[in-house]
Amino acid sequence: MTIPLLTLSHQQPFWKFRTHRVIANTTESTRNLCKSTLYLFLALATPFIAYRCFNSFTMFWSSSSSSSQPATKIDAESLRRQRINSSKLYQPDASSKVPVIYSSYYDISFLGIEKLHPFDSSKWGRICRFLMSEGYLEKKSIVDPLEASRDDLLVVHTEAYLNSLNNSVNVARITEVPPVAMLPNWLVQMKVLYPFRRQVGGTVLAAKLAMDRGWAINVGGGFHHCSGGRGGGFCAYADISLCIHFAFVRLNISRVMIIDLDAHQGNGHEMDFGNDERVYILDMYNPGIYPFDMTARNYINQKVEVVTGTATVDYLDQLDKALAVAGSNFAPELIVYNAGTDILDGDPLGGLKVNSIIGSICLIVCFLFFFSQYFSSSMRSKADLH
Ligand SMILES: [Zn+2]
Repeated sequence: MTIPLLTLSHQQPFWKFRTHRVIANTTESTRNLCKSTLYLFLALATPFIAYRCFNSFTMFWSSSSSSSQPATKIDAESLRRQRINSSKLYQPDASSKVPVIYSSYYDISFLGIEKLHPFDSSKWGRICRFLMSEGYLEKKSIVDPLEASRDDLLVVHTEAYLNSLNNSVNVARITEVPPVAMLPNWLVQMKVLYPFRRQVGGTVLAAKLAMDRGWAINVGGGFHHCSGGRGGGFCAYADISLCIHFAFVRLNISRVMIIDLDAHQGNGHEMDFGNDERVYILDMYNPGIYPFDMTARNYINQKVEVVTGTATVDYLDQLDKALAVAGSNFAPELIVYNAGTDILDGDPLGGLKVNSIIGSICLIVCFLFFFSQYFSSSMRSKADLH
């Protein structure tokens, strides 16, 4: 059996091709085969054509809805406000307590897997136990935060990002602990993401307590590598961005300063507030270590790059000058200070050599000085107004 080939020649353009004659010359079985081929082609092509039609329709729909973008933006903003106003994260009563926030659920530990990352995921509990054993803090006076719900997280995060955390492989990438990829996701949620969500609740609550009491400390949190759409560097939720958005709406403020003294660059909050004039970012970091995020660096209002090996005196000198500049550039109503411990000498990640005892004391003195300068000038300006 031969199948006539449909060939074209220069003398015979395809629109003049006499198809009927070719078909007429075929045998019955060949005709059946052609029909079968045609049906097969149609059967295979129909889903493809339907898919293309659906795609075209959705593209048309999205392009027509993008013409009404201002309305969509307004809806997104009002939805965000609605979520913030209906949140329970400001509910814990701290009136009879000191504004130090911590929960025993903060610490991450599961069969020793957490030890595969140099980041100490049990430090929060050890800090509180030390403060209690030294008599600085009583267990009953610590504020216990709530877990940030999915609705709370959607204030900053996208649905797609939160859904991506239902995949253990993605959580393993974010936490930089490969074996996490092999764990069932319910276990990852319980042992890794739940502690993070509880710490997010603590950071959000800290802003409210700071406004009520003048200061507040969340012993956990500070996940400054995570933005609304992407996690990384052991940071799964953007607690700093969430804290600030809650403060804008619930505390009715509009000027926030982030002072990020973790040894790493805070690329998460930088991406989230890059074009937001309500937020001033002072970031002092080692440019020779993770995350090397050059895009986010463009969004830092005031960057201080401290190279590997920078020691206590030099570090504090640069910090003093930076705080003076920040205080003259911007008048915040709330300051979010991200206190990374990885600037200390001997830390396996930070590469800096700030003396752990002298440095800590001097850092506290620096900040007390900065806050007192800021608040006294702020009080003076208020007095002048009256
Ligand atoms: Zn760090």
